[in-house]
Amino acid sequence: MSEHKGISEPSISGTTIDIKSRGTVTIDAAHCKGCDLCIPACPPGVLAMSTEVNHMGYRFPQLSPGCTGCGACLYVCPDFVFEVYRYEQPVITAVPKESVAIR
Ligand code: SF4
Ligand code: SF4
Repeated sequence: MSEHKGISEPSISGTTIDIKSRGTVTIDAAHCKGCDLCIPACPPGVLAMSTEVNHMGYRFPQLSPGCTGCGACLYVCPDFVFEVYRYEQPVITAVPKESVAIR
């Protein structure tokens, strides 16, 4: 399989790619200080900083499909912004091919 960061076992059909998520996170954007530490810490690369800012003027992370529930973001964040959950069964999300960054 080619290296698709942010995609675990993708299934490609037509104009979409099925991305499997084994977990998810909640993001308390109001408490984010915009330090960016969580972005490179996420192994599948499914976090990206927002373009909008919170009430303190900081950008904050947003989640794309493909989270594994690994908890790396929770451990690295100094402001306790994340809660991490693991699904009992993986969740499949179909996303447009052109929206998937291949790194
Ligand atoms: S739990 Fe892991 S995979 Fe999911 S967003 Fe956090 S670092 Fe990324
Ligand atoms: S590590 Fe925490 S404080 Fe830093 S950008 Fe990510 S969510 Fe915000």
